[in-house]
Amino acid sequence: MFEKEYDVIVVGGGHAGAEAAAAAANMGSKTLLVTMNLQTIGQMSCNPAMGGIAKGQIVREIDALGGYSGIITDKSAIQFKMLNKSKGPAMWSPRAQNDRMRFAEEWRLALENTPKVDFYQEMVSGLLVEGDKIVGVRTSLGIDVKSKAVVLTNGTFLNGLIHIGEKQFGGGRAGEKAATGITEQLTDFGFDSGRMKTGTPPRVDGRSLDYSKMILQPGDENPEKFSYLQTPVLTEQRDCHMTHTSALVHDLLREGFDRSPMFNGRIKSIGPRYCPSIEDKINRFADKDSHQIFVEPEGWHTVEVYVNGFSTSLPEDVQYKALKSVKGFENVKFFRPGYAIEYDYFPPTQLKHTLETKLVNNLYFAGQINGTTGYEEAASQGLMAGMNAHLKINEKDPFILKRDEAYIGVLVDDLITKGTEEPYRMFTSRAEYRTLLRQDNADLRLTPKSFEVGLANKERMERMEKKQNEADSFVSFFRKTSFSPEEINPILESVSSSKVRQSDKLFKVFSRPKVTMDHMLQLDSVSSFVEENKFNSEVLEQTEIQVKYSGYIEKEKNNADKLHRLENVKIPEGFDYSKLKSLSYEAREKLEAIRPVTISQASRISGVSPSDISVLLVFLGR
Ligand code: FAD
Repeated sequence: MFEKEYDVIVVGGGHAGAEAAAAAANMGSKTLLVTMNLQTIGQMSCNPAMGGIAKGQIVREIDALGGYSGIITDKSAIQFKMLNKSKGPAMWSPRAQNDRMRFAEEWRLALENTPKVDFYQEMVSGLLVEGDKIVGVRTSLGIDVKSKAVVLTNGTFLNGLIHIGEKQFGGGRAGEKAATGITEQLTDFGFDSGRMKTGTPPRVDGRSLDYSKMILQPGDENPEKFSYLQTPVLTEQRDCHMTHTSALVHDLLREGFDRSPMFNGRIKSIGPRYCPSIEDKINRFADKDSHQIFVEPEGWHTVEVYVNGFSTSLPEDVQYKALKSVKGFENVKFFRPGYAIEYDYFPPTQLKHTLETKLVNNLYFAGQINGTTGYEEAASQGLMAGMNAHLKINEKDPFILKRDEAYIGVLVDDLITKGTEEPYRMFTSRAEYRTLLRQDNADLRLTPKSFEVGLANKERMERMEKKQNEADSFVSFFRKTSFSPEEINPILESVSSSKVRQSDKLFKVFSRPKVTMDHMLQLDSVSSFVEENKFNSEVLEQTEIQVKYSGYIEKEKNNADKLHRLENVKIPEGFDYSKLKSLSYEAREKLEAIRPVTISQASRISGVSPSDISVLLVFLGR
């Protein structure tokens, strides 16, 4: 029925599990994906969309590393937008609306086309551990399957409890069973676990809506895409729409507050602060009598519609009555009511940078089980856990991304160093080096690293090298080539920039605010260089960013180099903090619990002050 022993078993086929299985298998591990329902591999539990601010950068990073989320997003997209295009390139964030059913289907097909992945549909109810090492899993039918490493990606399923008004029932997602056994076993081993909560809005019948009363939200005129490989670009898109709640809608919702599990104490755990339910928004922002609602199609062909902004666990009759009072929803028919779900998670400070647990060797956690929220956050952890599981069992060095190398590096470091008490989602503000971590250069940053350890393939590497070489040669063209005042002054005049009196290098004028690549292309020397070299739009964009933001990029690189000096000061494994009497009590306690591997990581632990760091540095002879 099964191989005698797998290299890696991945438990759960959500976003984290799918990426973990693909990564481990593509690196060469014999991998088994055990999931409760093979029909829901890559299922989008909540909104049918990928990317967005900071999350879009993560999807680009997953793609650059050789993961599948970007490719699958492109193949199933129905609308694309580059968010924040009016701001600097560090803020540009790709976002796609997806066909929910096709997204899951594409994931399943991608995994079926990954030769080293085997599949099995069942619930894993226990882990096989010998000494302090994982050796496999036990399923609910009592079948033991052996492996050298296990990646747990249980999402919202561990002891999941669904709430709709006063009703509550066990479930991992609407219509799916909760998973039991694993939390209990892990807490017996000594793991800490906690509870978190999340929620989702009702889905409705698009045929019952009056879009003429709503505001049209089309996709970009020239849609881009996520993958650096040759995936399809949308030639047609589906529109989204926007409408608003009103004081009347809020009054109708308030009528149900006494039956709300959020307010009557039934839900005890903490939900995502930045993705609040509609009842939470009304309660917290009592002075606002209107909130935005985005009406998003669930696919190319289905009439089902996602009501973004109306997440709720109020009783279904209250949801329905209130939604009927929203403009355009007067005749709304429900497909599914909104609900909230509480589930177990494991505080991620119990993990190493590789996402391996500190307590049990070769056991990895990835995704919502680590207290994160979001497909992108989950997928990126799955990829890292799958890669590291493969590397560990092959006795290779771990694959760790630093905070100045990737949003994924920031995510993992935040989780394992600071932990999280509320569902963690990525923001650009969490990254101190966001000018370096742009969506346009994820391939330049990460593909070579992944290629070196055997995940990103040759095609990816060659495409990256071509882009890098072409952008480098175009940047040096701007550094070397001079202009005459006669040819450049009309351009400067057109953007109200002061004229020049003498010749200089093009790099200098191109660096000026408001001067763009389009202006540069008006110069014969530039346009003929582009034509001769057949540069594509990606190379033009990369060159423009590298010229215009060179000052900022240099500054951040210097700051990152300073951090690396601390990153290089390693703290020996098993270091005895009790020896250092001058450490504060809080610092000693936190350092003992988290066991940072470098001084730099220690400095990011809340409660460890600069003076504690000085004590450590002096002791370590620095
Ligand atoms: P999941 O996608 O949950 O996948 C877990 C997988 O593991 C499932 O396939 C399940 O069948 C399988 N599994 C679990 N236990 C076992 C077991 N013991 N044996 C075998 N298989 C098992 N994210 C946001 O960013 N914003 C939101 O507003 C938001 N709202 C949400 C609302 C709801 C109701 C839900 C359920 C999720 C919401 N999310 C939201 C979260 C988003 O869905 C998750 O972050 C993401 O799906 C997590 O991916 P994952 O791979 O960790 O887990």
